[in-house]
Amino acid sequence: MSAKLISGTEIREEILAEIDAEVKEIKAKHGVVPGLATILVGESPASISYVTLKIQTAHRLGFKEIQDNQSDDISTEDLLKLIDQYNNDDSIHGILVQLPLPDQIDEKKILNAIDPDKDVDGFHPVNVGRLMIGGSEVKFPPCTPAGIQEMIIRAGVETSGAEVVVVGRSNIVGKPIANMMFQKGEGANSTVTVVHTRTKDLAGHCKRADILIVAAGVPGLVKPEWIKPGACVIDVGVNRIGEKISEKTGKKIAILSGDVDFDAAKEIAGSITPVPGGVGPMTITMLMKNTLKSLKFKLGII
Ligand code: NAD
Repeated sequence: MSAKLISGTEIREEILAEIDAEVKEIKAKHGVVPGLATILVGESPASISYVTLKIQTAHRLGFKEIQDNQSDDISTEDLLKLIDQYNNDDSIHGILVQLPLPDQIDEKKILNAIDPDKDVDGFHPVNVGRLMIGGSEVKFPPCTPAGIQEMIIRAGVETSGAEVVVVGRSNIVGKPIANMMFQKGEGANSTVTVVHTRTKDLAGHCKRADILIVAAGVPGLVKPEWIKPGACVIDVGVNRIGEKISEKTGKKIAILSGDVDFDAAKEIAGSITPVPGGVGPMTITMLMKNTLKSLKFKLGII
């Protein structure tokens, strides 16, 4: 393997240790800890496993964590009342509504009802606007793009003046990471191209990339010959391509693959993220970082 492996699992541990130290310091000085309320509607196994991981991480860091489970027949009005309750709870600094929501719920109305200063997912239009302005306006960068940028910084990849190509234009990954990479600042100042399903020459654009960020959700979309030798490749895709029996638990687990042909790409790239163990572990980590940040804003220490 010629490429340096950028391990999200290792970077997560570094960041969690930093958060842990800060939480202890703030608790000692100010007598408060970050508070995170997670609202889960229904019993989708994927949502439950994701929320469980969030709770475990919050507990490990000494956060106050409220897990609010609601049945899947809850109305939009009742969910709005719940959000209002957490918006007005001084011990809660971050509110997270696990998506997707059942069909009867007006998802947009729910997300827009969260106080932008407690919107640690960074999906509220106010926070999307703050991200677009950049610099000190940014409060809560969305967690997956923030994780990607943090990995690029900690891997020591030069971003200033770099050609960045982002594959995908979703609201949760493609658009925000493209926006973050061309801003002024650390881990940014890049020249960014966004490619998508209507792009004419996907391969040609990817071949120019010093940093290639792929978030399409199509296994093996990026071919090894599309990668510029020495490029940094960030594979955001998480695709279930089969099932296997876990050696640890003896239970059935999904076989995951990214959007890049990892085995071939690692022989060409300068650095690359694996799937699993790459971008995946960073999302919850950055959620914790945003929740801590929210408390620090409230205390006026940033
Ligand atoms: P999405 O489906 O909302 O968007 C995919 C984007 O990719 C679209 O803009 C589409 O235009 C583009 N695209 C799809 N097929 C393409 C093709 N053949 N050629 C060019 N462009 C193409 O998906 P998303 O929510 O942005 O997620 C993308 C992937 O990242 C998924 O696999 C998802 O599971 C994964 N993901 C991982 C994390 C994480 O690791 N924490 C977080 C979010 C998303």
